[in-house]
Amino acid sequence: MVAALETRSDCGRCAALCCIAYPSDDMPGFAARKAAGEPCPKLASDGRCTIYESRAEEGFAGCIRYECFGAGQHVVQTLFEGRDWRGDPSLLRPMVETFLAMRPVSDLAYLVEKALGAAPNADVVEDLLNVKGELQHIAQSRQSLADSARIARCEQALRRIYASLDPATLGRA
Ligand code: SF4
Repeated sequence: MVAALETRSDCGRCAALCCIAYPSDDMPGFAARKAAGEPCPKLASDGRCTIYESRAEEGFAGCIRYECFGAGQHVVQTLFEGRDWRGDPSLLRPMVETFLAMRPVSDLAYLVEKALGAAPNADVVEDLLNVKGELQHIAQSRQSLADSARIARCEQALRRIYASLDPATLGRA
């Protein structure tokens, strides 16, 4: 059975992957320096944020605004079957790499859901569901996530659909 894609983050089912994956240069609103793949200095060894309640006051408001659109929990719960680098440090690198590969797929899945709320007719709905189904299949394994050409075809299809949508309707979706 193909696992459905969630399009909102659920940090409780993730493993702080966004606190590790990105370099600080790519993290607006992040008041520390770090390289890609390096844990945030505010991340405790148990994978919890030590300043969670005061992130904005301490210069980490970007963490509050950040949204992975469900990529994190999909990686942990589906692609690593609930395993976690906090229990097996050798998983850290492959989990982070998979998270980075999953992010564009989750972004596109979110955009599909948004467009479904603005689809003017059944033909557009069908086109969107086709893209959604393809994204779900791509997200089922680490191997298929590596197929960047397949992801690019989904993006192109979605661009064409978006070009046909009424921006005013889309803004309300
Ligand atoms: S400040 Fe907290 S939420 Fe932000 S990246 Fe660091 S550990 Fe994660």
